[in-house]
Amino acid sequence: MKKQGNIRKMRAELKEVVEYHLPIGDELIFMNPLIGKKVRLSYLGQINCIHCGKKTKTSFSQGYCYSCFTSLPQCDPSIVRPELDLSYLGISRDMEWAKENSLQPHYVYLAYSGNVKVGVTRESQVPTRWIDQGAIRAIKLARTPNRHIAGVMEVALKEYFLDKTKWREMLKEQNGTEVDLFVEKQKAAGLLHPELQQYVSEENNTYTISYPVAIFPEKVTSFGLDKEKEFSGILQGIKGQYLIFEGGKVINIRKHNGYLIELEVEE
Ligand SMILES: [Zn+2]
Repeated sequence: MKKQGNIRKMRAELKEVVEYHLPIGDELIFMNPLIGKKVRLSYLGQINCIHCGKKTKTSFSQGYCYSCFTSLPQCDPSIVRPELDLSYLGISRDMEWAKENSLQPHYVYLAYSGNVKVGVTRESQVPTRWIDQGAIRAIKLARTPNRHIAGVMEVALKEYFLDKTKWREMLKEQNGTEVDLFVEKQKAAGLLHPELQQYVSEENNTYTISYPVAIFPEKVTSFGLDKEKEFSGILQGIKGQYLIFEGGKVINIRKHNGYLIELEVEE
C-alpha cells in the first residue's frame, strides 16, 4: 500500500482497544492493522495550513500558517491557557466561534499517563482529549459552564498536580495500579475554593483506556520529519498521537498536521 497526501492528527475511537485512523489526503487509513508491519514515512517537503490550505514554510501551533495562527480563535493563547479565555465577558477573536466552543460546558479532569495530571477539555472532546494524551485512566473532576472557569480551576490545582503529560513516561509500559483516581479526585475537590466546589462532578466513574501497542519501548527516542525526511521501521504500537517503532523510535503525528507525506506499508 502506498498513499500520498497531507496528513492530519489521527482520529481515535474508544473501543476495547483504541482504534486509530490517519487522515491522509481525502482518505482515512486504519492504522491498527499496520502494527507489526514495515512502515515507511517520507516527507515531500510541503506543509499546507490545516485551516486555509495555503502553503506555509513553518507550521505554527501544530498545523497553521502564520496568518491563521495570529487571527483564528482556535490559535488564541487561551487554547493552551484556558484561564485566559475572556469570551464570557464578550472578548474573543471570534465571538461566534466562542459561543460554539468556549461558552460551552467544559470538564476539568484528572488523567493518569505515568503521573496524575489535571487538564481541561470541552465536554464534546471527551474521551478524544484523553486518548490524544495517552492517558490509561481518567476521571471527571468538575463540569463548568464555560472554558474560563475550568481554566481557573486548573490553575488552582497546578500547585498539586502536573498539568503536562510526561510523554516519554507515557510511551513506556505502565499499569498505574498504585494510583486511585477517585481518591485523587476527592483530594482535588477538597483543595478547591468553596466557590468552585459547586462544579465538582457527581460522576465518579474511572475510565480505562487501552492502546494498540504490541511491544512497549524500554527507551524512547523521538524523531520529526523536518530533520529526518524519510523513516522506515516496524510499527510496534500507537499511543496518544505517537507512532511507536522498533528500537523505541517514536513520532508525534500531531506535530506533523498539514505535512505532505508519502506512507508506504510493506505487505
Ligand atoms: Zn492558514
